[in-house]
Amino acid sequence: MPYLTPPEDLGSLFPEEPAYRVRQLRRWLYRTPVLTADAMTSLPAALRPRLEPLWPFAVEAEQAGDRGSTVKWLLRAPDGASYEAVLMAYPRRTTLCLSSQAGCAMGCSFCATGQFGFERHLQAGEMVAQAAYAAARLRARPLPGGPDRLGNVVFMGMGEPLANYENLREALRRLVEEMGLSGRAITVSTVGVIPGMLRLAAEPWPVTLALSLHAADDDTRAALVPLARRYPIDDLVEAARRFSAGRGRRVTLEWTLISGVNDTPEQARGLAAIAVELRAHANVIPLNPTPASRHRAPPPERVRAFVEQVRRAGANVTQRDTRGRGIDAACGQLRSRRAEETP
Ligand code: SAH
Ligand code: SF4
Repeated sequence: MPYLTPPEDLGSLFPEEPAYRVRQLRRWLYRTPVLTADAMTSLPAALRPRLEPLWPFAVEAEQAGDRGSTVKWLLRAPDGASYEAVLMAYPRRTTLCLSSQAGCAMGCSFCATGQFGFERHLQAGEMVAQAAYAAARLRARPLPGGPDRLGNVVFMGMGEPLANYENLREALRRLVEEMGLSGRAITVSTVGVIPGMLRLAAEPWPVTLALSLHAADDDTRAALVPLARRYPIDDLVEAARRFSAGRGRRVTLEWTLISGVNDTPEQARGLAAIAVELRAHANVIPLNPTPASRHRAPPPERVRAFVEQVRRAGANVTQRDTRGRGIDAACGQLRSRRAEETP
């Protein structure tokens, strides 16, 4: 499984191959990824089967939604760990949402991944392979309504990327230096692991940070996000401020809107105040309900009113679309549904 080996060490897998062959392979893996080793036409036919299995996962299920412009893959590692990735086509870019862990240990009450619990960290190569697979798929068969190049990568699938820091770091390095993505095209979303936020701020790649805030006061936040008890909002805001100051990059504040919990005028004012202070962009996304939680999304007019309140208070805010709802493409939902179906 060549993606599990750092690109610099690929030669050690094929010690008898000349260096230029290894360079060719490296390009097939990262620069112009293809779906099967057989399609690596510049490599000798005898070498190609030795690259199998090419991917560190099997694609166990594929679901298409939004008239084919969203595709979700359920991926299974040889050890049985499962995780997922979602590819979404928009007119000007195609975005991959990938996983950094199988499951998640953070236990956020509204999140299907959190309800499922933690299975294991993903290796760097397992994260990068999700992007390479998406790029290969796009070249072979573009999604309707979007470009055939992978534009953006967001770490918003399963798992908490900053709780798997070393692997995340190596994945970012390969996405930028091997696959050629711009750091600006990559977003790392975190529930607020402050030490990881500060480390990420010091890395050479100018990635975007998305902070999953969800509440403007510590008590409301702790009811949704257990980690809030460890890191109070004031400290999170300070860490986000340091991130954007060091980078000259705006952070994004994620806000999953839940009826009767964080959709009040008071919360809207609190979000606006934090967004204005940080000069951050707020993304409001109505909750995608999960089976194990009683939380519900507010009705559409309440969502609009909330967003309007935040905007009127001077903040930069958008309501994020609910792409992939029809196929449960948000946050661990395909896997939890299949887990329910399995007796
Ligand atoms: N662990 C990281 C990244 C993965 S979750 C984080 O929490 O930021 C990616 C985003 O999906 C987060 O903003 C999270 O709050 C949001 N999310 C999780 N469950 C959701 C649901 N059921 N409906 C809507 N958004 C959800
Ligand atoms: Fe983990 Fe993020 Fe889900 Fe929380 S919202 S349980 S941190 S994946």
